[in-house]
Amino acid sequence: MPLESKIDGIIARRQAESLHILLVEDNLVDARFITGLLKGASGFHWRHVVQLSEALALLSTVRFDIILLDLNLEDSLGYDTFSRILTAASSTAILVLSASDDEELAIRTVREGAQDYLVKGSFDRRLLLRSIQYAFQRKQSEEALRQSEATVRSIFENSLDGIMIVEDEGFCVEANSAAGGLVGLSREDLRGRSLLEFLGRDQEGDWIQMRDSGSGRTRFWVRRDDGVKRLCDCGFSAHILPGRHLIVLHDITEQQNLEERLRQSQKMEAVGRLAGGVAHDFNNILGVITGYAELMQMTAADAAQSFRADKIMAATEKAAGLTKQLLAFGRRQMMTPHPLDLGMVIGEVTNMVEVMVGAEIQLRIHVQVEDLGVVNADQGQLEQVILNLAANARDAMPNGGVLSIKIERHTSAGIAADVPPGDYVMLSVRDNGIGMDPETQSRIFEPFFTTKQTGTGLGLATVYGIIKQSNGHIAVDSEPGVGTTFSIYLPRIAETIEDVEQKSRQAPPQRRYYNGTETILLVDDEEDLRNATAEYLIGCGYKVTKARDGKEAIEVSDGFRGEINLLISDIVMPNISGRSLVDHVRKTRPDTSVLLISGYADDAVIRHGIYHDRAGFLQKPFTFQLLGSRIRALLDTGPQN
Ligand code: ADP
Ligand code: MG
Repeated sequence: MPLESKIDGIIARRQAESLHILLVEDNLVDARFITGLLKGASGFHWRHVVQLSEALALLSTVRFDIILLDLNLEDSLGYDTFSRILTAASSTAILVLSASDDEELAIRTVREGAQDYLVKGSFDRRLLLRSIQYAFQRKQSEEALRQSEATVRSIFENSLDGIMIVEDEGFCVEANSAAGGLVGLSREDLRGRSLLEFLGRDQEGDWIQMRDSGSGRTRFWVRRDDGVKRLCDCGFSAHILPGRHLIVLHDITEQQNLEERLRQSQKMEAVGRLAGGVAHDFNNILGVITGYAELMQMTAADAAQSFRADKIMAATEKAAGLTKQLLAFGRRQMMTPHPLDLGMVIGEVTNMVEVMVGAEIQLRIHVQVEDLGVVNADQGQLEQVILNLAANARDAMPNGGVLSIKIERHTSAGIAADVPPGDYVMLSVRDNGIGMDPETQSRIFEPFFTTKQTGTGLGLATVYGIIKQSNGHIAVDSEPGVGTTFSIYLPRIAETIEDVEQKSRQAPPQRRYYNGTETILLVDDEEDLRNATAEYLIGCGYKVTKARDGKEAIEVSDGFRGEINLLISDIVMPNISGRSLVDHVRKTRPDTSVLLISGYADDAVIRHGIYHDRAGFLQKPFTFQLLGSRIRALLDTGPQN
């Protein structure tokens, strides 16, 4: 509702209810004269007192609309009388009754807050009533204005958005504390400073354009004196007063960061899927290549042929190493998590790290001993993480430097932007090398992103995959010319390791060939791999029946007369999955051993319960030699069903 109509409403209501008047007058003749004038008019109620003390006592309990005030009383004189009444009844209209020789004092009271004055002996009823009405109305509108000003001021002061009023050249005339906070100054210090000081030269044009267009929205980077930058949405309204412009700044830095992180992690997720998918198919192809190379080697006619087969196998082994890294990035690598003491892990790799970084680089290792706790992770993978980070640190310090590896417990809320509050064991790897600019930093976890002549760009992608797969978080802090710190946070699962499952490193196989005569049902939807594997197994002496998927395998199994000693099956296949096939065979042929093979270990495989299954498992690509040894081991121990 507009102010005027609000006031009109109040007055109309009041007049209908009548006005309450307090007459403060010690001259009884004057008092009688005034009340005589009031008596004739309707709608007025009055009380009359002769002393200031009486008036003050009354005002403390009763509310009046108007005070008719004589300044010279028995117990108080002149301006003092007015001032004490004003303090006691600040929201009541005051009409001063002045003696004819004291008009100057009356004028002063009007300047200080009285609504009007009347000179005694010079007014009649009409003038008195009109002055009363007028004084009341003036007081009402002053009050309404005061209240609306107080509301606006409180919005201004309490707003979480920065509000500034600037003049034409951008100099700040007034600002609230939120605006001060944005630029790192008190609001007093902000006054008189130019908006342009905080915007940076390249944004000057935006400001001028916005000012000239009268109103609008734009986005500014606001830079504090200490260099910290905040991104702000800026609303602008020109000429809210002549030569005064309003600027509202809403800080969206956090929101922008969150969006950016989300985009980043979605990108990584997508790239991860792609990498994992490619690696999976590639593994099957590698399986075929290794398989035939191995067959070639077994039947080589001379040393030259055997040498060539060796070379093919060595090359595929390298390629398999690459896909393994890709799988780790795509989080599809099989991992065997154990309760681990990170201090122990670092102990195992320190020597390797030392050799890798060389004598130019000083290695400092700090491990918290007390209360560190344990994490759940795959030791081999964590070793790989440390080695990859150390390799990068070495590359970042070509002229030597300090590499510090620290392991300590971190219990805290909001350790780093992407790390949710929790109890962690933190592994940090810090170098004082070349560092990275923000552009490089935003891409380092992408597979194949490298800034090095001979880099693969897979180191950090692998690290990222492993850490995510271990439910951990990774943060990086880097500055060009200063150095880089990678911090890894792994959930702390317990105080101590009760039973650390020691990694049983398999002894290298002694036997070159693993022959046998048993019957094997071989199921794989990759035809080439199936054929190569069958050829190898037949070469070893086994009797082999092949099936191209789960459905065909069930038919073969059901129709086969005689014993099947071993089922070798791929896990993810069209029609019936390897898992269902295994269930069927276990029911119908309890004496058959099972060996599962798979190109990846994504969620699907984990859901298939590989970890907890007693069936054997082999990750593709594998060498036939490894396959041979696993088959023999399974057949020799019999089915674990
Ligand atoms: P690569 O080491 O093969 O280049 P990475 O994935 O390990 O691949 O690293 C990707 C990129 O990240 C590097 O090329 C380098 O630009 C940057 N980087 C990683 N670690 C550091 C570090 N400690 N200091 C400076 N730059 C680094
Ligand atoms: Mg690297």
